[in-house]
Amino acid sequence: MSRRCVIAVIVAVVSVITAGTMATIAVVAARAGFAMPARVWIWIAIALDALFIYAVFERRAPVWGRIVSRGRPHTPAIAITFDDGPTEPYTSQILDVLRRSGARATFFVLGLRAQETPDVVRRAAREGHEIGNHTWDHAALPLRSPSAMRVTIRRTSDVVQDITGTRPRVFRAPFGWRNPWLDGAARREGCEPIAWTIGVS
Ligand SMILES: [Zn+2]
Repeated sequence: MSRRCVIAVIVAVVSVITAGTMATIAVVAARAGFAMPARVWIWIAIALDALFIYAVFERRAPVWGRIVSRGRPHTPAIAITFDDGPTEPYTSQILDVLRRSGARATFFVLGLRAQETPDVVRRAAREGHEIGNHTWDHAALPLRSPSAMRVTIRRTSDVVQDITGTRPRVFRAPFGWRNPWLDGAARREGCEPIAWTIGVS
């Protein structure tokens, strides 16, 4: 499924859940003697729907809880991160550049790709870079169950630990898309959720 289709499905599901929940609350409230005009409920549902969609797609939204997305404002430093790899020959080339400049970065790897090219992951860890968890295969997570989210995170951490001897301590959601359970699932797997300030494709 294309990324646009995934977005459309997520928006549709969130909207249906919000509308259904608000309709149920409106009926229960009416039976309890708390009647409001239908248009008021509709506007509340629209506002909640917009809030939930913002919370799912805005990577830095604090709606689901705290997420790291920037460093200390007055510290003259940046944290460089690379996602979706390892992808050869590019990851090795990036490591060469980082080594020449004496810089350290974080690589949010996919478990699937790490398993296919363990040597470059091992090299990155050996050269002092942090290996983060970016799920097994970059599938969008907002509509996944909490247990399915933990599986994709744990499976990736298992592979990274097999390769480097260390479990990832940071996690980044594919596309930065989250749901109410994702941050908790990541933390239960020992990873702090991380967003980003500026993205470059
Ligand atoms: Zn990614």
